[in-house]
Amino acid sequence: MSVSTGQQFSLEFFPPRDEAAQARLVECAQSLKVIDPSYVSVTFGAGGTTRDGTLETVQTLTGMGFDAAPHLSCIGSSRDQLRAMLDHYREMGVRRIVALRGDLPSGMGSMGGQGSLAHAVDLVRLIREHSGDWFHVEVAAYPEMHPQASGPQKDLRHFVEKVNAGANAAITQYFFNADAYFDFVDRAQMLGVTIPIVPGIMPITNYSQLIRFSDMCGAEIPRWIRLRLAEMGDDRASIRAFGIDVVAELCQTLLENQVPGLHFYTLNNSAATLAIWKSISG
Ligand code: FAD
Repeated sequence: MSVSTGQQFSLEFFPPRDEAAQARLVECAQSLKVIDPSYVSVTFGAGGTTRDGTLETVQTLTGMGFDAAPHLSCIGSSRDQLRAMLDHYREMGVRRIVALRGDLPSGMGSMGGQGSLAHAVDLVRLIREHSGDWFHVEVAAYPEMHPQASGPQKDLRHFVEKVNAGANAAITQYFFNADAYFDFVDRAQMLGVTIPIVPGIMPITNYSQLIRFSDMCGAEIPRWIRLRLAEMGDDRASIRAFGIDVVAELCQTLLENQVPGLHFYTLNNSAATLAIWKSISG
């Protein structure tokens, strides 16, 4: 049993695109209740999903008894649109938001248009100005550096700005090398950060999908993992079994080193997250 008292677990879902996917999401969330998550979060805008999709999924998950938190990205939205979304979430009784910059689809330049906020720190400031302390604000952290940053220390300083602007906690981009996380946390603490920095955990279930995600977000897949997965080819059962072993071991290491909790990127699929959970809690 690696889990100790006080360590909290959260789950991330994305808005389903159709009714069949909606039914799968409900089934997935239901089966992950065994983890007793302190909250669940719902992505926004990622992969072309809409604001309404996030909102509806938050409602579905709230109706299932979860404390559900929408992700909110500022790129491409005006200040007024963001304020309206904050008001709407507040009226719905939402108390937690994952505040992000977001990414524009490729070919749309680096800014979200006139009036759009350029960085997540601007969104955290806007949330605090507009909604005071109503929302518990989570922000993103990058142990292996955000891919657009000009250097790890500069990226860390931008992270610290989000904390100083009023973030309550952070969730990391996924990683497979625990040392990168511990180094990031040490350096953040040296700059005065005391908020929880919760590791984001990506189950490994599909080699090509993992390569695609990692290329986009700058998460390193260690050579030995890449080679093992490549050798397994289309043998999905072996990839899943190996992936569960590798990620469960990473979680064990993190939990034994007293991380504040774990945030699972479920990808709306319960099997791998459940298998990892059984391994670390059983
Ligand atoms: P920021 O904190 O703004 O950082 C982005 C870049 O700008 C970094 O390189 C940083 O160093 C730099 N920077 C920050 N502040 C400044 C400044 N003041 N001056 C100069 N440079 C600065 N994407 C989605 O579209 N939808 C989602 O739901 C979603 N959920 C996510 C959840 C988690 C836990 C994580 C880790 C990522 C998520 N993403 C999501 C991806 C995220 O939107 C991208 O990684 C995006 O490129 C950066 O978002 P950010 O909030 O970290 O941005």
